[in-house]
Amino acid sequence: MFHRLEFFKRLQKKQPNEFVVWSGVKRSVDMVWGEMLGTIRQKMILLLEEERLDVRDLSQVLGLSEKDVYAHLEHIQRSVSRQGKNLFMAPCECLSCGYVFKDRKRIKKPGRCPKCRQSHILGAMFKIE
Ligand SMILES: [Zn+2]
Repeated sequence: MFHRLEFFKRLQKKQPNEFVVWSGVKRSVDMVWGEMLGTIRQKMILLLEEERLDVRDLSQVLGLSEKDVYAHLEHIQRSVSRQGKNLFMAPCECLSCGYVFKDRKRIKKPGRCPKCRQSHILGAMFKIE
């Protein structure tokens, strides 16, 4: 099966002037990454339509800070809902006591667990459905 995340990771490792086969045609990495895959937000949507990812995956493969990824996700949440889709969030979880942040609507990771007060928290996983 074709995995977009794996493909994006491979593109990230190549030089911009190297070539890859895209839709059966040999093109430069630069062109596929920029013109074919579109803006950062479009790339993020392509990835999230295919699999569940967390903010760390997205920041690594797109070369962004986690802070920027959160900002883009907020926009994506609004734009996909206009298309009748939904940005699904698997809830954050406290790694110290196992508390699950079930009712949390905000995209950003909470700073502290309300139950045990620790700040070792596993961020949400996202997917567009
Ligand atoms: Zn906790």
